[in-house]
Amino acid sequence: MLAYLRLRALVAPLALASLLAILSLGVPSGVAATVSYTSPKATAPAPDLREVAPPVTLKERHVAPTWTAPLSGSYRLTGRFGSSSSLWSTVHTGLDFAAPYGTPLVASTDGVVTFAGYDGAYGYKTVVTLEDGTELWYCHQSTMAVGVGERVAVGQVIGYVGTTGNTTGPHLHLEVRPGGGDPVDPWSHLSGHGVVV
Ligand SMILES: [Zn+2]
Repeated sequence: MLAYLRLRALVAPLALASLLAILSLGVPSGVAATVSYTSPKATAPAPDLREVAPPVTLKERHVAPTWTAPLSGSYRLTGRFGSSSSLWSTVHTGLDFAAPYGTPLVASTDGVVTFAGYDGAYGYKTVVTLEDGTELWYCHQSTMAVGVGERVAVGQVIGYVGTTGNTTGPHLHLEVRPGGGDPVDPWSHLSGHGVVV
């Protein structure tokens, strides 16, 4: 009897501990609850914000490209379109910007380089063709900085002022040829795009 009581005194706390252990091991149901809680919403794909916000600025520039003067430094206009001179065999087909030798030339607007090489009286000449087919000719360069097939952006340096070809001093001879045809007045064309040179 004494032995039994002693045993019981030992067993009772053990049983209680076991019971508590089992109760606290109600973890399996807790795990199941956690899984069912996380599964439906957490696996839903996150919205792609790039699709929600398209690159608006690029689209706007595609519609109306920006324009700038073809020289980054100071210059002086020395020859107007259509003027006559003993220097030119016919009337002047471009606009002349006199500037120090080596002054950077920049793309007046976005386009693709379709010619870059030596062209007789024009000297080193780069032709940038715009999306609408208009050609911009940059002539008499000392050095060309871009090659055929290269895409240029407005303001990008494409070459440097020089004296190659038929010149009496360093200057840029700029021509504007819509559709690659006959030249038009570059001054009017530039001012038509908000650039007064
Ligand atoms: Zn000229």
